[in-house]
Amino acid sequence: MGNPADQDKKLILQERKNKLSPQSYHITQEAGTEPPFTGPHLNEKRDGAFACVVCGQELFSSRAKYDSGSGWPSFYEPVIQDAVNVHEDMSHGMVRTEVICASCEAHLGHVFPDGPKPSGLRFCINGHALEFIPEE
Ligand code: FE
Repeated sequence: MGNPADQDKKLILQERKNKLSPQSYHITQEAGTEPPFTGPHLNEKRDGAFACVVCGQELFSSRAKYDSGSGWPSFYEPVIQDAVNVHEDMSHGMVRTEVICASCEAHLGHVFPDGPKPSGLRFCINGHALEFIPEE
């Protein structure tokens, strides 16, 4: 028997595994990346909100979505500053800035300083990390 915290964590991870698609689990829980142009929401043009596929927290608005040509859903800002957290990611021999859900710490993607105005940022987010909620 592990300690109670480990047991709780194990249970939470098992629940997520049951609920999420294999791609969504790999990306959000194992910091995976979907191949470009393969994920959902890339060509989503409707008004609405993009939420964390794990916990349902609203992360990005369709108003900040743009076509970066990268093959991943791209946004120039989160819906509110506190919706996501960022930190340095040194994996794969690169220095990148990882974007995670502030509520559940799901891996979402990365942010790059080559986005459009007004922020100049490109939040490059895996489609499988997002759930789209169309506006009524
Ligand atoms: Fe989340």
